[in-house]
Amino acid sequence: MTGQAPPLRDMIAGLIAAPSVSSSRAHLDQSNLGVIEPLADWLTSAGFTCEVLPVPGHPGKANLIATLGQGPGGLVLSGHTDTVPFDAHRWHHDPFRLTEDNGRLYGLGTSDMKSFLALACEAARGLSPLDLDRPLVILATADEESSMSGAIALAEAGRPLGRYAVIGEPTGLKPVRMHKGIMAEAIHLIGRAGHSSDPSLGNSALEGMHALMGELLAWRRELQGRHRHDAFAVAVPTLNLGHIHGGDSPNRICGECELHIDLRPTPGLELDGLRAELYRRVAELAGRRGLDWRVDRLFPGIPAVETPAGSAIVMAAEALTGHSAGAVAFATEAPFFDRLGMETLILGPGDIAQAHQPDEYLDLARIPPTIEILRALIGRFCQGG
Ligand SMILES: [Zn+2]
Repeated sequence: MTGQAPPLRDMIAGLIAAPSVSSSRAHLDQSNLGVIEPLADWLTSAGFTCEVLPVPGHPGKANLIATLGQGPGGLVLSGHTDTVPFDAHRWHHDPFRLTEDNGRLYGLGTSDMKSFLALACEAARGLSPLDLDRPLVILATADEESSMSGAIALAEAGRPLGRYAVIGEPTGLKPVRMHKGIMAEAIHLIGRAGHSSDPSLGNSALEGMHALMGELLAWRRELQGRHRHDAFAVAVPTLNLGHIHGGDSPNRICGECELHIDLRPTPGLELDGLRAELYRRVAELAGRRGLDWRVDRLFPGIPAVETPAGSAIVMAAEALTGHSAGAVAFATEAPFFDRLGMETLILGPGDIAQAHQPDEYLDLARIPPTIEILRALIGRFCQGG
């Protein structure tokens, strides 16, 4: 005997109404339990077994694993529970009150991506464990927009969750099977300050950084010459020199200089290998010039991901949507799911153009096809031989 989740519109409104900003800026960061708890209530009443797993080291943050049916294999429908911070004064609607206007549902997280969690609940409505040959998991994660601590904790726990996964990030209902990775590192060169009138009194970290920037741009040319993936709008890995600070006065030799870089690898380039190569190049140049050096991670980094074109989840989504699976320019939790052995597809009803924007909305017309596609995927991967 299973109960009932609330009507779909009430579920979306309930999730939007619960503030769940995640941010590396502590004063903006909020708990996500206001989203996790109602989801767990609805899914428990619908017959799912719900586990709320606190994220280690991140008080007030949790992942939800809600499972219907049992056994190996199965399908995971996944969404993140958090949103980015917002500028209230730039919104024409209340970000926390779901508002229908002009065929659209407005609210923070409508597109990216709390609505997807409600749509996954809706797609599972009426199913009983007896209907399923393989489990259906609805997964709700913490902190995707900031540290990815939720997905990282799941990957580290190492527990298999399913054979296939769909992450409902905003893709305009077109399937996506790959994205680049992201790493951001802070490079410090430390020399010796001294009076500018006599170069022998110091060792300029700024001049060392000038040489290192040349070295990094040469490395970029090498990477771009060797790695090319035409599915991406920008087909090669990118390396951006985004921030520099060094020295304090024109009449002092610069004692310390810091450069921040952003590197976005194509699938097949591993973050660990890139870091090792970066450190090697920095160490060699610093050694030549008698400088000390240090490289810090600005965040843990997100690997690139590519699910094979021949994967059953890719082919099923292509057949259901009529679009061939492509690439996106943003990163997701997919590489962490990949580590858990799940073949992962990114497919959701929102549009990335609306994500992280004032007056974020979900087009109402996207709702029925999303539910239809999710039901078909549940049928294909959780039911029958
Ligand atoms: Zn998102």
